[in-house]
Amino acid sequence: MAKNESLSDKLKPCPFCGGEEILQGLSEVEEGRYWYYRYCLACHSKTNSQVTKAKAIKAWNTRQPDLEAETTKIACDMLGEANKCFETASEQLSGALQDYSEVQAKLEQADAEIKRLKEFEKAVKARHNGKEKIMASKFTSN
Ligand SMILES: [Zn+2]
Repeated sequence: MAKNESLSDKLKPCPFCGGEEILQGLSEVEEGRYWYYRYCLACHSKTNSQVTKAKAIKAWNTRQPDLEAETTKIACDMLGEANKCFETASEQLSGALQDYSEVQAKLEQADAEIKRLKEFEKAVKARHNGKEKIMASKFTSN
């Protein structure tokens, strides 16, 4: 165990992204039998599966950047950019939502005010009609 640990201390940083967290993965080659591989936590580039831990480390340390990894790195960068855009958009959206709910609240206030004014108008008209009726009855009764 100590031997493996000292070996893993010698893992080179990721040749693709410079990441230093190179982790060990297991792949099941047949039921209950596992081979080892190493992968970069940052960009997920990995070695082929190897029969021993030491071979996986050696495979990691001797690998060269390849087209696939370059593509992965580019894709990761783009993903990072996209995430940033998404975060900005999210912030803007939550700002807009807040504005929206403020506008909504003001609209509700305005609606309530309109309702109140209509009630008032009704009351005034009713009073006015009442007076006209009273006056009309005064004229007719005289
Ligand atoms: Zn990497």
